[in-house]
Amino acid sequence: MIKVTENLEIIRELLATSAIEAERDPQAIKLLAVSKKQSISKIIDAASAGQRDFGENFVQEGLEKITQTRNMNLIWHFIGHLQNNKTRSVAENFDWVHTIDNPKTARRLSEQRPESLGPLNICLQIKVDKEPEKFGVDISQLPELASICAQLPNVTLRGLMCLPAVRTKFIDQRIPFKQLKKLADELCSSGIDTDTLSMGMSGDYRAAIFEGSTIIRIGTALFGERH
Ligand SMILES: *Cc1c(COP(=O)(O)O)cnc(C)c1O
Repeated sequence: MIKVTENLEIIRELLATSAIEAERDPQAIKLLAVSKKQSISKIIDAASAGQRDFGENFVQEGLEKITQTRNMNLIWHFIGHLQNNKTRSVAENFDWVHTIDNPKTARRLSEQRPESLGPLNICLQIKVDKEPEKFGVDISQLPELASICAQLPNVTLRGLMCLPAVRTKFIDQRIPFKQLKKLADELCSSGIDTDTLSMGMSGDYRAAIFEGSTIIRIGTALFGERH
């Protein structure tokens, strides 16, 4: 049996240790519990142990979980690819979207976000490797997309996200994360200030923390294999 509470404890410890090694404040690094294809009871176990942020990849599945945990004050992040015909449900129910890679999706989310909820937090997904099967905005298109998003009224551009190709060595893993940090710094110089780098997963969190990650996304190491 998977003990979510114990895993959570271990993962928090690992993230904090890496933060200290990297001479960073452990508090500046948030664990995003990726709960796609995991049961509601595991989510509740994690929430009971103090985990607040959860990530979902599929709209319908996410909505069901959000509904079932309404009274628990959790923060829900959409981290899957978002089709434009599903933006409304996301705008009305999630707190964050990490995977914006085109202006149309961002505009729809801003238009559809109920004002009563406050702005939706968004990150732009950057294509750091040339993998045709992965989504993300090309680096050359980033300045334009960022400037469009920064002006939308009902979304807040919080930062950048990436899902790099798998690399096994620590020094190699750092390369795309360093690049993401540099892109965020360049946006800042152009007047678009952000505070979030959503980068790093189970196999490369340490490299991501060394390069300035503020959100580490971890699924199976916390909840066990997906169903
Ligand atoms: C599924 C997923 C994760 C978590 O992956 P695990 O291998 O379960 O840790 C992280 N980020 C994104 C974008 C994902 O889709």
